[in-house]
Amino acid sequence: MPLLNYNNTVYYISQKGLFLYMTEKVKKLSPRHAVVDRAACVACGTCEDVCPRGAIAIYRGQYAKVQEERCVGCGICAGECPASIIKVEVRA
Ligand code: SF4
Ligand code: SF4
Repeated sequence: MPLLNYNNTVYYISQKGLFLYMTEKVKKLSPRHAVVDRAACVACGTCEDVCPRGAIAIYRGQYAKVQEERCVGCGICAGECPASIIKVEVRA
């Protein structure tokens, strides 16, 4: 049973109770994320170039796709998109 969640890492106590050890990373999503209007995307790649997290990339040369676990909702891509079709929204 997890006893401690610190710095996005869960720590457990061993059976012998003598030490703590790290077993898994906690996947914690930011409260906001970028949402692309795929139908309007012209796949120019600007968003991919400016994202500091490597969280958005052109999918099969067709449209920009956000990698949810990487996106922190900073909005840089939205500000740079020449078609203005990226919005930063609160995650559902
Ligand atoms: S910058 Fe805008 S138009 Fe260009 S690939 Fe990204 S979402 Fe599509
Ligand atoms: S909102 Fe920020 S982190 Fe998310 S895809 Fe856009 S530039 Fe990257």
